[in-house]
Amino acid sequence: MKLYLDFEPCKECNEMMTGLSSPEMLFADDKTRADESAKFLRHLTYNHNEVVQAVMEDLPKQKRDQEPDFYK
Ligand SMILES: [Zn+2]
Repeated sequence: MKLYLDFEPCKECNEMMTGLSSPEMLFADDKTRADESAKFLRHLTYNHNEVVQAVMEDLPKQKRDQEPDFYK
């Protein structure tokens, strides 16, 4: 999962993002990675709700534009 958004990640965000992009996680099995992604998403939902809102609003727009700006 990649998220490049305009928001201020808190300490927990940074730790989780570092964890998600760590070599250990790249070679982890699907379930472990899904669990870690879910944990991060849950944290965003509870602590950075505006980010989740922005992602939800942004996704259909990006699809329409056929320009995955989101992943740049
Ligand atoms: Zn956070």
